[in-house]
Amino acid sequence: MSTESQLRADIVEVGRRMYARGYTASNDGNISVRLGSDRLLMTPKNVCKGFMTPDMMCITDLDGRKLQGDRDPSSEMLMHLEVYRRRPDVAAVVHAHPPTATGFAVAGIPLDRAVLAEVLCTLGSIPIAEYATPSTQELPDAVAKYIKAHDGMLLANHGALTVGVDVLGAYYKMETIEHFAKISLVARMLGRENLIAREEVLRLQELRGTYGIKAPAPICADDTTAAASDPASCQVVQAPEGGGSRLVADSIDRSSPPSLPRKEAGGSYGATPAADEAAAGEIRLTYRELSELIEDAIRSLR
Ligand SMILES: [Zn+2]
Repeated sequence: MSTESQLRADIVEVGRRMYARGYTASNDGNISVRLGSDRLLMTPKNVCKGFMTPDMMCITDLDGRKLQGDRDPSSEMLMHLEVYRRRPDVAAVVHAHPPTATGFAVAGIPLDRAVLAEVLCTLGSIPIAEYATPSTQELPDAVAKYIKAHDGMLLANHGALTVGVDVLGAYYKMETIEHFAKISLVARMLGRENLIAREEVLRLQELRGTYGIKAPAPICADDTTAAASDPASCQVVQAPEGGGSRLVADSIDRSSPPSLPRKEAGGSYGATPAADEAAAGEIRLTYRELSELIEDAIRSLR
């Protein structure tokens, strides 16, 4: 199978997986890949990504001129072209609307908290590109701000975008984003989200080097530099200073309800670490003891 045939087959397979997993509905989403140094192979306009065939793809140059194909290239071609212009290291671009991640994009909540080691080692943080009208030049302009430093981002009130060195690599990052979004949503519904401490985040960043994970920019987990940092040069991650501990309680949302008892290995129910902490500062009194204390207090006031 020639390289071009393989790339066409890869796009068909990724389209099928995206549709099967509900990342796209109807004709949503688009996929492209570099074909040599000066051409792109891209999904066409107005087709369901779940039912494509290899012959449907368009070939364009890097300015978006159609060179080959019976159909017109994707309506989001401008966004794809912008990514290839700004990221010579990128060979494939995937865009979809995975529902949970898109929910975060609609709510305006970036996936930038230090929560999962796997995500920190790979994508770092997932920011939100500002809202832009789909298919217009506004969208590539919004993406341009973050694409230098990120391999994945949410698109406000729209969906998500991922890039990679090949089509499947870009698609797997889309899977990671949706998976991360689902886990984040469940943790927040449970009312508790323990963040990984900053020192551990920096240790995870070192692992990128150890395992040869390519990242377009370093993680920036320090509050002071993060606030002033440029999203074009740094992956801003919310990771509190841990003071030696590896995990620290979420300092962002203090409205969390108290945690439920957890079942311990021995079969008895114990308190969570947070509950232990609370219990350490708690004084337990019987009704009689409490009444006596109140009576004493009233007497001393007289
Ligand atoms: Zn879209």
